[in-house]
Amino acid sequence: MKKRFTPFIIEKIEILDIASEGVSVARHNELVVFVTNAIPGDVVDVKIFEKKKNFLKGIAISFHTYSDKRTEPFCEHFGTCGGCKWQHLDYNEQLFYKQKQVTDNLERIGKIDVSGVMPIIPSQSTTYYRNKLEYTFSNKRWLDNSDMAIRNELKEMNALGFHIPRFFDKVLDINNCYLQPSPSNKIRLAVKAYAEKENLSFFDLRKQEGFLRNLIIRTTSKGGLMVILVLFYEDKICRENFLDYIHQQFPQICSLFFIINSKKNDSITDQELCLYKGNPFIVEEMEGLKFKISPVSFYQTNSEQAYELYKVARDFAQLSGEEIVYDLYTGTGTIANFVASKAKKVVGIEYIETAVEDAKENAISNNITNTSFFAGDMAKVLNNEFIEANGKPDVIITDPPRAGMHEKVIEQIILMLPERIVYVSCNPATQARDINLLSEYYIVTIIQPVDMFPHTHHVENVVLLERI
Ligand code: SAH
Repeated sequence: MKKRFTPFIIEKIEILDIASEGVSVARHNELVVFVTNAIPGDVVDVKIFEKKKNFLKGIAISFHTYSDKRTEPFCEHFGTCGGCKWQHLDYNEQLFYKQKQVTDNLERIGKIDVSGVMPIIPSQSTTYYRNKLEYTFSNKRWLDNSDMAIRNELKEMNALGFHIPRFFDKVLDINNCYLQPSPSNKIRLAVKAYAEKENLSFFDLRKQEGFLRNLIIRTTSKGGLMVILVLFYEDKICRENFLDYIHQQFPQICSLFFIINSKKNDSITDQELCLYKGNPFIVEEMEGLKFKISPVSFYQTNSEQAYELYKVARDFAQLSGEEIVYDLYTGTGTIANFVASKAKKVVGIEYIETAVEDAKENAISNNITNTSFFAGDMAKVLNNEFIEANGKPDVIITDPPRAGMHEKVIEQIILMLPERIVYVSCNPATQARDINLLSEYYIVTIIQPVDMFPHTHHVENVVLLERI
């Protein structure tokens, strides 16, 4: 029989660094110790809950020395909410560790000389920087320690907020969140108060029952406001009363949707979107270009920093007006349309068909005539026939999801051999892996990390690869 692991405590251990995925690291004898709840410079007692051949995992349970890199977290939900886990780390230190994450990965996995890395571009706003939040209704509110002490007396078990990491059916009731500008908090609080007053049922994730499922709020930098109420089943009277209430309380909502989602999961991309009041989209602007955002459209969640990121990508592409550019993983075509005026033509490829439709519409409404967009799986679409039909690219801009590029896509890039590749990535590890596969043909000339998500470990990175 397998022996059960007995947790044990290591005393007075100093946290040394932050590893990938934002986890703090210490050393104990020859072993690496991954420690949650502590930052570099802290000296702590760690309760070990997992032991493997090469590493231990644990949680800091008492502090001997607090790191001078610490700062006071400003959010009442810090420590429980999964959202802004780095609030206790000074913002400049956050930037330092994000930059380090990029260079460590590029050196270790990519075998790349990183001496030319530029200092990370900080986020202009470190609070209220998100343009989209998705809240969950749940009848299983997460109980903190003080709640637990009186749990049998608690009547109020509903929550409207964020999932607790690792507990899929538990939701943290949010009182105030620093991520999205006003009136995001006011809307969420008003929606919850109304639902409770009217005795509407909050969703039970395990039993799959209850009326209210999700509340999605999207904002734009010019004051656009979209609200999407997701319900588990139709109840016309309750729904209309609720939506009318939201609309009366917040007349600035310019796009009010509802969705009836009776599936097991929360994804709404395959559901019918029902417009209740206002326009079917809100509009984000960048350098005079207008981008329509519908309930399911992808748009970078930090609009201000998206602009910084796109400017870096466009600079790195060094376009003279003569180039054929491919924008791989184009989403709603934002990068393609953003660089179009500097190129001969831009070809965008993207998996999600509705995103491709948005990309085409965005081109038309901005009078851009030299972009074209194609839907499909990159590994299949990007073949010889496609290249013959659309022309061999001089420059490739690629912005894949966290998993990076499929090997077949890299093979195809090697067959096309564009002069330059601008690689935008939200995961330095897969970016480093992919760049390594290109290293026989390309040299990395500039690296520019960008912070888009303050108080999280996430980092965006742009690398310019030039043909050897
Ligand atoms: N460049 C865009 C979005 C990048 S996000 C922007 O800045 O707005 C990555 C995109 O890759 C997503 O839109 C996702 O749908 C798409 N994607 C993921 N896997 C894909 C695949 N195998 N083939 C094509 N597109 C894919």
